[in-house]
Amino acid sequence: ILARGRDVCKRNGLLILSVLSVTVGCLLGFFLRTRRLSPQEISYFQFPGELLMRMLKMLILPLVVSSLMSGLASLDAKTSSRLGILTVAYYLWTTFVAVIVGIIMVSIIHPGGAAQKEMTEQSGKPIMSSADPLLDLIRNMFPANLVEATFKQYRTKTTPVVKSPTVASEEAPSRRILIYGVQEENGSRVQNFALDLTPPPEVVYKSEPGTSDGMNVLGIVIFSATMGIMLGRMGDSGAPLVSFCQCLNESVMKIVAVAVWYFPFGIVFLIAGKILEMDNPTTVGKKLGFYAVTVVCGLVVHGLFILPLLYFFITKKNPIVFIRGILQALLIALATSSSSATLPITFKCLLENNHIDRRIARFVLPVGATINMDGTALYEAVAAIFIAQVNNYELDFGQIITISITATAASIGAAGIPQAGLVTMVIVLTSVGLPTDDITLIIAVDWALDRFRTMINVLGDALAAGIMAHVCRKDFAQDTGPEKVLPCET
Ligand code: ASP
Repeated sequence: ILARGRDVCKRNGLLILSVLSVTVGCLLGFFLRTRRLSPQEISYFQFPGELLMRMLKMLILPLVVSSLMSGLASLDAKTSSRLGILTVAYYLWTTFVAVIVGIIMVSIIHPGGAAQKEMTEQSGKPIMSSADPLLDLIRNMFPANLVEATFKQYRTKTTPVVKSPTVASEEAPSRRILIYGVQEENGSRVQNFALDLTPPPEVVYKSEPGTSDGMNVLGIVIFSATMGIMLGRMGDSGAPLVSFCQCLNESVMKIVAVAVWYFPFGIVFLIAGKILEMDNPTTVGKKLGFYAVTVVCGLVVHGLFILPLLYFFITKKNPIVFIRGILQALLIALATSSSSATLPITFKCLLENNHIDRRIARFVLPVGATINMDGTALYEAVAAIFIAQVNNYELDFGQIITISITATAASIGAAGIPQAGLVTMVIVLTSVGLPTDDITLIIAVDWALDRFRTMINVLGDALAAGIMAHVCRKDFAQDTGPEKVLPCET
């Protein structure tokens, strides 16, 4: 028994360490909350976790570029277009199913209370048009400058502009009544007072295209995928660059294999540091608590039942074995709240534990980490309907359909970084005229929900790779692309 135990520990050492580190991180975080550390002490404490995030982010760019370029270049045109169409169709479909699950859950649990009012056009006060985030999504697909895309993405900025009545206006001076008075009453002095009837200045919001910090992964994915397809068509003349990308990909995976040993240590500080920062849980209202429970229930139904069942029906393989193979990636997603940052680990788990064909993983995973976010889509639908319930608005069937379509689009537009879904939720809220300012209602619990939805996002990508590996197995058995003969792979 001892020998078997030792064997299990040896094979799953990293996974066991990761589970332990999540537990220790939670316990340490709650213990240190009682010590009331200063913000300075908290920031020093968070440093090892910050290092983990930096390491992961450092690997995203070389990994996405090298895996997509070498992956697509090594497939023939027929195989790559079949894989591309099947993958994107599967992603869209499962995201839509996630949204429906969210809508069913929020309609059953009703976390925001029963709605009574009909929604009118004027109900919401959108500060940003829903077209802006959609235009940003398209802008991000075509970055004007590839170097800039490695550290910036397009994000429309909305600024308030105050329009005061001008002195020249005929109405403005006549509405201003100023009264000053000083009076003695029973020996005490009455304050000066002034009555100003000037109408309050009108505030309008102005949107202009701008950029914000953070890698434009979508733009890099589109560029690398196009380059990969073109390289594949170039035949022998493209081989040196394909070979370079394959070597780059291999070397990044070797760095990952070393870096993973630091991750359990980093996870402890990442999780404990976040717990130290969070608001007092007792201040979170009852409705907000129910909202969080609704999102988590939806994620559980989608992640633990629907997606694994889909995997089982399509591949006829045991989904539990598959999920066990990617547990470490799921823990990293929980700790980092970023599916892009988790990408290197998802790769490692799929190749080493689940033995997925690397040509499939190289395409399905980077694309999935960018556009396939089932957890985010589910949460956006629940949040929008929750905000309607809190405001006492009754949504009609057409508005529910609008929410399901826009939540799917908004999740595609969300980057694989922490709390990106909160930003793209403007699309969903404005599409049905809900007040965008009410996003602030759910901010208090968003950091926690973000971790769970990121886990489901990563799970969705990994299961998609498993399904594509099964569905396209014949194409890949026949495909003897340039990969097999390049020196780097031998
Ligand atoms: N944090 C999520 C991810 O990286 C995106 C989001 O829902 O905010 O997948």
